[in-house]
Amino acid sequence: MSEVRFVQVSKEFEDNNKGKFMAVKNADFTIRDKEFMVFVGPSGCGKTTSLRMIAGLERQTSGDIYIGDRIVNKAHPKDRDIAMVFQDYALYPHMTIRENMSFGLKNLKRPKSEIDEKVTEAARILSLETLLDRKPRELSGGQRQRVAVGRAIVRNPKVFLFDEPLSNLDAKLRVQMRIELSELHKRLGATIVYVTHDQVEAMTLGTRIVVMNQGEIQQIDTPEELYKNPKNMFVAGFIGSPPMNFVKGRLEGNTIQTAEHVFFVPEHMLSTYKAYQGKEVTLGIRPEDILNLEQLTVQPAHNIIEPVIKVVEHLGSEFLVYFSIGEETIVAKFNADYPVKAFTKQQLYVNMDKMTLFDPE
Ligand code: ADP
Ligand code: MG
Repeated sequence: MSEVRFVQVSKEFEDNNKGKFMAVKNADFTIRDKEFMVFVGPSGCGKTTSLRMIAGLERQTSGDIYIGDRIVNKAHPKDRDIAMVFQDYALYPHMTIRENMSFGLKNLKRPKSEIDEKVTEAARILSLETLLDRKPRELSGGQRQRVAVGRAIVRNPKVFLFDEPLSNLDAKLRVQMRIELSELHKRLGATIVYVTHDQVEAMTLGTRIVVMNQGEIQQIDTPEELYKNPKNMFVAGFIGSPPMNFVKGRLEGNTIQTAEHVFFVPEHMLSTYKAYQGKEVTLGIRPEDILNLEQLTVQPAHNIIEPVIKVVEHLGSEFLVYFSIGEETIVAKFNADYPVKAFTKQQLYVNMDKMTLFDPE
């Protein structure tokens, strides 16, 4: 079993300028066997520190870490049965690809026949067979990335740890490697812990996602749940592209009153948000839940607004439309079949069936 479990794990750093500083606060979670768990959050939120604590490269200040059913609090990195793939790949430039991939097993004094067999197998899985006698500098970025993964695979670890492994690749290659990593996960049936600051990468790769901010875990859920039911404004504002819009308002009866509009709230939503009745709220609406009225076949009775469009950004199959409600800039994502011009008034429908309410900021 290759579970990873954190029980009330914190990490405090001694910083010369700031004094004591908590990089990870009371992290408590279980990464299940064979799960592809992605840690996502802005730079400095504690993702790498969390991963390094699993690897044993950083010792937690308090709490317990389990790998499988074993407490590894004091275990040396090499005794944890993990393999880590770093952002810069950390390949040895003077060694061939074959030597790079063999290195870890040689250090473990494994027999040559076993090493050869494992390297051949990993090279086959990663389509590196024809490159084994080259040096890293003779490989493209994507190929080097695969070698770094290959080096981890040959060790057949309980858990794979990836720290932003795609961030040095160009956009097209990143998409391709994302697909390869997903396939690799299925093929190996391994537990993978993967760190990224890129929410699209997190959403496409993760079977579940840990969203972190300032050392604290905000939510742990499947991509679908994070998108549909974000627990707080941080998660809502981080997940989705572009992320959710926020408008201040007040829930009064079956309406939300904002600076400029009265939105009608569907019946089933009123019971969900009973606790907010008569209170200030922040209304969350995703860009894809604001529709161009022209694209609707049935004219809605409510929740039509008519803002002046400020900016239009073309993305090919869709485009982003910016306007204001009160002081907030709102973005809507439209299908390119329904074009809109900047500096014109446009009738838009806000789909309140998909709204989310949060405590006021
Ligand atoms: P992320 O990977 O999410 O960008 P990190 O885990 O690398 O974030 O860092 C979290 C916080 O801890 C940052 O503020 C960083 O500056 C701080 N930090 C990381 N490592 C050390 C260290 N060795 N000493 C002091 N502070 C550190
Ligand atoms: Mg990092």
